[in-house]
Amino acid sequence: MSGQPQDDCLFCKIAEGHIPATIVRETETTVAFRDINPQAPTHVLVIPRAHYENAAELAAAEPTIAADVLREAKAVAEEDKLESYRVVFNTGSGAGQTVWHAHAHVLGGRGLHWPPG
Ligand code: AMP
Ligand code: ZN
Repeated sequence: MSGQPQDDCLFCKIAEGHIPATIVRETETTVAFRDINPQAPTHVLVIPRAHYENAAELAAAEPTIAADVLREAKAVAEEDKLESYRVVFNTGSGAGQTVWHAHAHVLGGRGLHWPPG
């Protein structure tokens, strides 16, 4: 069911502490951890503890938790002392989504080109 932990979901397992990750921040509703394959000096994923397939589904079902994810993205950037940063929600396989649990990529610490590839 939407929002409930999924047995086959990597990020649910990280949120539950069943798979290790380099966690940088935790709140009641979110977990932030370093991406295992970083694309920038700061590359942190912020996830809701609740399982939704993507950011839009999260926002539709749990708008306050979607806002928590954005607030935590800013907190991660502040902790890493980033003046500028990018928050990305890949949505759909054509956009590069590979994990079907909503997550914000927080990227910074190098020049970020616009538009992205
Ligand atoms: P996306 O491709 O937007 O779905 O993002 C998934 C991200 O999860 C990728 O950037 C992966 O490098 C990252 N990732 C996959 N497995 C792990 C893991 N065990 N710990 C941390 N990050 C991971
Ligand atoms: Zn999940």
